[in-house]
Amino acid sequence: MIKDRLGRELRDLRISVTDRCNFRCSFCMPEGEEYQFFRRDEMLTFEEIQRFVRALIPLGVKKVRLTGGEPLLRRDIQRLISMLSSLPLEDLSLTTNGFLLKEKARLLKSSGLKRITVSLHSLRDKVFSELVGREVKVSWIIEGIEEALRVGLEPVKVNVCVVKGVNEDEIVDIARFFKDMGVVVRFIEFMDVGNLNHWSLERVFSVREMFQILSEHFDLEPLEKSYRGEVAERYKHRDCGVEIGFISSVTQPFCGECNRLRLTAEGKLLTCLFAQDGYDVKSLLRSGAEEEKIREFVTRIWSEREDRYSERRLELLKRGIIPRKPEMFKVGG
Ligand code: SAM
Ligand code: SF4
Ligand code: SF4
Repeated sequence: MIKDRLGRELRDLRISVTDRCNFRCSFCMPEGEEYQFFRRDEMLTFEEIQRFVRALIPLGVKKVRLTGGEPLLRRDIQRLISMLSSLPLEDLSLTTNGFLLKEKARLLKSSGLKRITVSLHSLRDKVFSELVGREVKVSWIIEGIEEALRVGLEPVKVNVCVVKGVNEDEIVDIARFFKDMGVVVRFIEFMDVGNLNHWSLERVFSVREMFQILSEHFDLEPLEKSYRGEVAERYKHRDCGVEIGFISSVTQPFCGECNRLRLTAEGKLLTCLFAQDGYDVKSLLRSGAEEEKIREFVTRIWSEREDRYSERRLELLKRGIIPRKPEMFKVGG
């Protein structure tokens, strides 16, 4: 177990396996921008990723989540999943936009993936297509979710990024739809990740506002945190027990419990979603470093860590300071 300067233990590792995406969500990777993607040889290989994860397990890493860009676009992703599933981890999950889920869910499950999170921000084809920057039928993503349930990638969770003026009028319908399906929904405040998504505080629909609306329609009972550092505020529908959660990264930050490290597809290690610089893991891995050396490297970085961007955001905004931040599709959320 290693602790940072604020006493936070390292526990979660989020690995972006590609920065490419088949969507162009307005809050992440808006259309009309020119994007530079990593070449294949610039990205970590599966063997390098596995070596890195294996080295970090004695330091306390228990949970690994694969993300992107769109992780299901990384060729043979099932091979990485099966390599990671052979390691002694408590949890191995993946976040996807769901476009390729229907065809891949079974393979992901049989390769050792434990559970999956699907991002779906609207139930209306027109709003969804506008949000994700291409024409997609919501029913297509729902079929992917149904397939994930069928093959046992449970619990399936759905992430909904709520943007004021875009989809906040749908939260009751979305909550009802997934309650009936027995799927956990997580409503997420629109965050100021990256530099391209035209974020402003006025476009944030707060968790407090969401909760107020939802509690007029549903009987929600608060749940205890299931582990220290859990980011979602969790509730359950009292009548059926299905869970529903909220992630209030902007209005009620939770940096004090943040135990997550992030690795980008090209092998940069970030100690915060908003970190301006990453640490070069790729060179270390490619120099043939032994596991002990990798642990020393990460221990040094983690023990010097004092990030708490979300807690400082409002103060920085007031002072007119807008730091450069990494893009969400590079870091993986
Ligand atoms: N492409 C996959 C997907 O969309 O699920 C995985 C990567 S995506 C960067 C990870 C998560 O970040 C998704 O649930 C997405 O909705 C969320 N996200 C992206 N941009 C966001 C933003 N500006 N604010 C809040 N959540 C955001
Ligand atoms: Fe792609 Fe996910 Fe970003 Fe949307 S949120 S553009 S699906 S990486
Ligand atoms: Fe963790 Fe950084 Fe997010 Fe705070 S802002 S919760 S330190 S990733």
